Amino acid sequence: MSKVVKFGGSSLASAEQFKKVGDIIRADEERRYVVPSAPGKRTKNDTKVTDMLYACYDLTEEDKDFSKELKAIKARYQEIIDGLGLSLSLEKEFQTIEKNFKDKAGSNYAASRGEYLNGIIMAEYLGYEFIDAATVICFDEEGEFDAERTNKVLSKRLAKCDRAVVPGFYGALPDGTVKTFSRGGSDVTGSIVAKAAKADVYENWTDVSGFLVADPRIIKKPKGIETITYRELRELSYMGASVLHEDAIFPVRQEGIPINIRNTNAPDDNGTWIVGSTCQKSKYVITGIAGKKGFCAVNIEKDMMNSEIGFGRKVLQAFEENGISFEHVPSGIDTMTVFVHQDEFMHKEQKVVAGIHRLCNPDSIDIEADLALIAVVGRGMKSTRGTAGRIFSALAHSKINVKMIDQGSSELNIIIGVANADFEDAIKAIYDIFVETSI
Ligand code: ASP
Repeated sequence: MSKVVKFGGSSLASAEQFKKVGDIIRADEERRYVVPSAPGKRTKNDTKVTDMLYACYDLTEEDKDFSKELKAIKARYQEIIDGLGLSLSLEKEFQTIEKNFKDKAGSNYAASRGEYLNGIIMAEYLGYEFIDAATVICFDEEGEFDAERTNKVLSKRLAKCDRAVVPGFYGALPDGTVKTFSRGGSDVTGSIVAKAAKADVYENWTDVSGFLVADPRIIKKPKGIETITYRELRELSYMGASVLHEDAIFPVRQEGIPINIRNTNAPDDNGTWIVGSTCQKSKYVITGIAGKKGFCAVNIEKDMMNSEIGFGRKVLQAFEENGISFEHVPSGIDTMTVFVHQDEFMHKEQKVVAGIHRLCNPDSIDIEADLALIAVVGRGMKSTRGTAGRIFSALAHSKINVKMIDQGSSELNIIIGVANADFEDAIKAIYDIFVETSI
């Protein structure tokens, strides 16, 4: 058995946090491969080391003095080293970093040093081997992640060591230039390492005890999600629920490796299990609710639209020509509505409208702005009668006008469009009916 454990920035922000992480790793023999983030915030108003590095490197780009900023970064690491009682010195590393900054090694290189240095400390603290991610996480010449090559190189490397630390967030192009994933990318590294190690579990340790049924900024102390499938998670993350980097799902999903989201500050909590499929029913029929504000609905009407072959394609072409992606397209007999992101659409609005007129000669086009979309997601909906009925009676009861309904054929989710102003109340109503009054 082997487990890959990834720790987020807040789990490694200070020596105190490092000690908790050390205890967690030592408590389970199987936790053999460790993927650390850079030190995150120690307090609410603190700055993440990654952000300090970006800011520091910006100064070098402008040929300004960055010694004070680099010193502050060094101090963050020294505080951890001292707090852990290690005799490690990062002096040489910082000399190299300073030189490379002066040589304009790039902001990717700069940001990656956060994880790199934390990895060195972690390896020293645990007595594990250190593997520089630049030697095992491969990007191609175009800067795209090269999954195949990485898996080959990394699995070969891991087979040679029983226990190792692989810093998160970065890798390298074929010529050795350091390249990072997008922000929060250590989650992706963790997943890649889990795949290459053929791990039984990918544990992702953060500062919350897993996913919640709804956004805690809207629902006070929402219930946690015990088990969620990859597909459900995709739906929820797409709609704004965030704990894990979106791309972190793919490498482990292909291998059927479950992800367990855990809380470094409450290690006894079970957290959330993300799995391929499960016979475990979710507690409340629905697994989770998420949503986003800021959509526009473009309603197109044309008599006999239903019999005009290619009408839908032509409408969507007008959006495509303007580089706008659509979210949902509910349609009636003589009407079709296209939901788009308001901020993407706003400044191209008239061009799109002109395009629709040119391409499909509609009777009328009407635009409604300031809409929100809410996704009610649950694998349990398929086998439960009345889910939609319960949602809509709850919304009606709360006097919320439903502007759009879209249920995917997978019966995994129901998407509801409401006015931005009704967004929070709608989520409360749905949460209440399924979670608070669930029987
Ligand atoms: N340190 C990087 C960031 O702040 C990557 C990560 O933590 O996953 O985005």
